[in-house]
Amino acid sequence: MKRMLKTILVCLALVTMVAGIAACGTKKTEGKFNPGTYEGTAKGHGGEVKAKVTVTADKITEIVIDAPNETEGIGSGAAKAVIENIMNSQSLAVDTVSGATVSSTAMIAAITAALEKAGADIEALKKATATTPAAKQEDLSTDIVIIGAGGAGMSAAVEAATAGKKVIIVEKMPIVGGNTTRATGGMNAAETSIQAAAGITDTKETFYNDTMKGGKEKNDPALLQTLVDNAAAAVDWINELGGDLKRVTLSGGATNPRIHTPVDGSAVGPVVIKVLSAKLEALKVEIMLNTEATKILTKDGAAVGIEAKDENGNPFKIEAKAVIIATGGFGANSEMVEGFRPDLVGFSTTNHKGATGDGIVMAQAVGADLTDIGEIQIHPTTDPETGYMFTEGLRGDGAILINAEGKRFTDELLTRDVVSANILKQTDGIAYLITNEEMRAENASLAGYVKKGYAVEAATLADLAKELGMDAAVLEETMATYAEAVKSGKDAEFNRTHLTKSLEEGPYFALKVTPGIHHTMGGLKIDTTTHVIGTDGKAIAGLYAAGEVVGGVHGANRIGGNAVTDIIVFGKIAGQIAAEEMK
Ligand code: ADP
Repeated sequence: MKRMLKTILVCLALVTMVAGIAACGTKKTEGKFNPGTYEGTAKGHGGEVKAKVTVTADKITEIVIDAPNETEGIGSGAAKAVIENIMNSQSLAVDTVSGATVSSTAMIAAITAALEKAGADIEALKKATATTPAAKQEDLSTDIVIIGAGGAGMSAAVEAATAGKKVIIVEKMPIVGGNTTRATGGMNAAETSIQAAAGITDTKETFYNDTMKGGKEKNDPALLQTLVDNAAAAVDWINELGGDLKRVTLSGGATNPRIHTPVDGSAVGPVVIKVLSAKLEALKVEIMLNTEATKILTKDGAAVGIEAKDENGNPFKIEAKAVIIATGGFGANSEMVEGFRPDLVGFSTTNHKGATGDGIVMAQAVGADLTDIGEIQIHPTTDPETGYMFTEGLRGDGAILINAEGKRFTDELLTRDVVSANILKQTDGIAYLITNEEMRAENASLAGYVKKGYAVEAATLADLAKELGMDAAVLEETMATYAEAVKSGKDAEFNRTHLTKSLEEGPYFALKVTPGIHHTMGGLKIDTTTHVIGTDGKAIAGLYAAGEVVGGVHGANRIGGNAVTDIIVFGKIAGQIAAEEMK
């Protein structure tokens, strides 16, 4: 007891010495570190990142990262990768995590700070130590191999594994989630129990018609019907897996409120990836990160596996009875975008780095056909500097758009293509999304943008006009006219019909926006049971595709809230059908 007390006292003394930092170690003797547990902090994407590092005299034995403000999914994926890399190499000679550079840089900095306190020679730890040569991944064999761990691939994996099949997912990035993690809005579905509970009348028919109209009547009718028919069950499925998509609002291009979002108004993508990851872990599905599929293997015209590169670039094969392509779109591959759409040169993108269209190239090499491949969507409201996307839900919840002169110029709730075109017609091709404190308090996404420093803040409209370099009288008149429209329920200028917030009270928050490459609607041709169709019009045996890699569901323009529904609905079908049909 006495001894224990003494230890506690020594620890307390040390804590005091290191100015409030929890460090409970013993004195460094011969080793690299003073044994104990130390904390370090650094600034991440959304706030402070903390690392707690435990060391013995010569080994890092545990690292715990606390990064509550990093984008969920991206943050936890990055933490896992950083911890693994540092623990395995027992060094700080590790790379940042591609796709999560800011978060992982902060995590490495926080760990470095903790190790500094442990008395480590940081420079020595940063020098790469000669390790044993990286092992080459051996060839594998499985029932179903899935390429891509975004929403579509993970949904397919849950269904196939639930059907009792052995599944391997290969993911070329160091973290799961793909573009799905970036989905900020929600999931469209009609005739859901959640709509009914909220007293919203909506029908599948209206959902179908809205989507067909938004897609300029170019959508594949059978694929769209499949989407509409399975959407409500898909929302329930995500909620049963632990999601909380129980708030329904109106989104661009929808007649009725049908976008199901997390109850706190936060982004949908991280929620979807979180619940799917948890389920896959429970089902013990193997996800091979840093593993890039390079080729689909065929025998007698049927897909029989893939060729891939392991994390060290070594080629290996995975033999399988079915292959599901869920590689997402090609919005981050500017060469491919410009190849299919020479008019879209020089746009920024909202997409993650891995959205390079690999699935399209690999499937074409085995005879797959494409559909609507030139249909590429630009999202109206992205940050002009970084391409960071501000959710469409903000406009649905009450934000308006003004131009650099302080005037409104569009019904903010028209479809993405129309709103984007209208923004591009304004001075410098930019606009400002105007919101206020009332909206910030209700909307977690907006609160996040403000916290991350994207918004210009001002107490009054006059101050805001000054900050944005526009005429205060013009801005005040614009806002007064809009407030009247909200009160009278009639927007005489632009005919916006969904009028929620009069935006009369400050403080105000303005987000500068411009359109950026967002969604590639075109892609592989599939049938309603996700078989990849060849250029000869016949299904390629053993080959399935789902998610953004597929074309036809959205036609010429995707309605906000339909992407997540698409990947879950068709991902589930791909997993179920591949499991049923594999021989
Ligand atoms: P979806 O919304 O259709 O699920 P996402 O973009 O969310 O699409 O996910 C697709 C995933 O596929 C991404 O995580 C991406 O990194 C991964 N991916 C793309 N190409 C390959 C490839 N060649 N090998 C392995 N994974 C890939």
